[in-house]
Amino acid sequence: MSRPVPNPGILDIAPYTPGKSPVPEPGRKVFKLSANETPFGPSPKAMEVYRQVAAHLEDYPEGTSRVLREAVGRAFGLDPDRIICGAGSDELLNLLAHTYLSHGDEAISTTHGFLVYPIATMANGATNVVAPEKNFTADVDAILKLVSPRTKLVWLANPNNPTGTYLPFDEVKRLRAGLPPHVLLVLDAAYSDYVSRNDYEIGIELVATTENTVMTHTFSKIHGLAALRVGWMFGPAHIVDAVNRIRGPFNVSTPAMLAAVAALEDTAHQQMSKTHTEKWRNWLTEEIGKLGLKVTPSVANFVLIHFPPDKGRTSAEADAFLTQRGLVLRALNNYGLPHALRMTIGTEEANRLVLQALRDFMAGK
Ligand SMILES: *Cc1c(COP(=O)(O)O)cnc(C)c1O
Repeated sequence: MSRPVPNPGILDIAPYTPGKSPVPEPGRKVFKLSANETPFGPSPKAMEVYRQVAAHLEDYPEGTSRVLREAVGRAFGLDPDRIICGAGSDELLNLLAHTYLSHGDEAISTTHGFLVYPIATMANGATNVVAPEKNFTADVDAILKLVSPRTKLVWLANPNNPTGTYLPFDEVKRLRAGLPPHVLLVLDAAYSDYVSRNDYEIGIELVATTENTVMTHTFSKIHGLAALRVGWMFGPAHIVDAVNRIRGPFNVSTPAMLAAVAALEDTAHQQMSKTHTEKWRNWLTEEIGKLGLKVTPSVANFVLIHFPPDKGRTSAEADAFLTQRGLVLRALNNYGLPHALRMTIGTEEANRLVLQALRDFMAGK
C-alpha cells in the first residue's frame, strides 16, 4: 500500500526521551531534579511582565524579537543585528542544521554530547559522526581526526550536558583553528552562566573574529523560563542572514520575548542562583564522593553520579530507590551512560534529601 514516506534519515532517529515528569503521590513531596531546571523559578519581574502581556494575546509578536536582541546586546556587548532569537535554543540548533546540512554531509558531536545534535543532524539527512571523549570531556584532537571532506558542522556544548565538563577557551580556539574554514562550529553555551573558571569563555570573541563560528544561549536554565521556550544565537552577518531566511516570521512569542528581557535585567536573581548552585554543587560532589560514588567534576547546574555495576548498587536500582522517596533524577541510558544518573542541583532541602537517600541506598537500607 502506498503512503507518505519520511525523508531519508528521519526514521533512523531514536525518539528523544525527556526526563521523567513525576506525578506526586498524595502526601509525598516530589523534587524534580531531572531536567536541569532552576529550583528558584524565574525573576519575579519576568513573571510580572508575563502577566501584563496576557492582556494582549490577540496581537502577533514583533517578528524580529528586536527588544530582546537589544537587551541581549546590552547584556553581552553584542551588535543586535547579529543576534537571532528562537523558540528555545533547540529551534536555533535545528535552524542551523537545516541551513547548513543536507544528505551526504557529516556533522560531528561527542560521545556524551547533547542529544538534540544528532537529531538535528539526521533530520536533515546528514550523518552524525561521534568523537570519543576523554574523562567525559570533549577531546579536540579526537574531533579533528574525524574531519572528512564531507564534514560541514561541529556541535560543541560548553559546558556539556549531561557530563558537566567544559573545554578551556584555548582548547576551543585550537579546535576552531584546526577545522577547515567551511566547517561551521556551533558553540552551545546553555550552562555558561554557572561557570566561574578563569580559563572559560562563552565564545563571543571567536564568533566576532571568524566567519564560521556561532554561539547559542538559552533562557531555560539560569533564567528559569524553560516553559516559555526562548533562546538566542550570535553569529557572523552572513550566517544570521541565511538563518533568518528560513526562520518562522513570528517564532518567538511576545510573552516569551518580554519576560526574557525582564529576566536578563534582573542580575541579582541570576547571581543568587549562581552562588547557590556553586555552593551546593561543591557540597554534593564532596559528600557523594565520601559514599564511595564517583562524581564527575561539573561546572554546570547538575552533577553526574556514577554507580558500580554490582547488584544492589546499580544506577537503575538507585534511580528506583530515589524515586520512591520523591527524588527524581535523570537516567542516561540513551546518552550512553547506563551506569550514571544526572542530578540537577536543587534547593538545600532537596540536596540534603538526595544525599541522605544515597547514603541509605549505599548502606543497603
Ligand atoms: C538545556 C539545554 C539547552 C537549552 O535548550 P532550550 O531549547 O533553549 O530550552 C541547550 N543546550 C543544551 C546542551 C542544554 O542542556
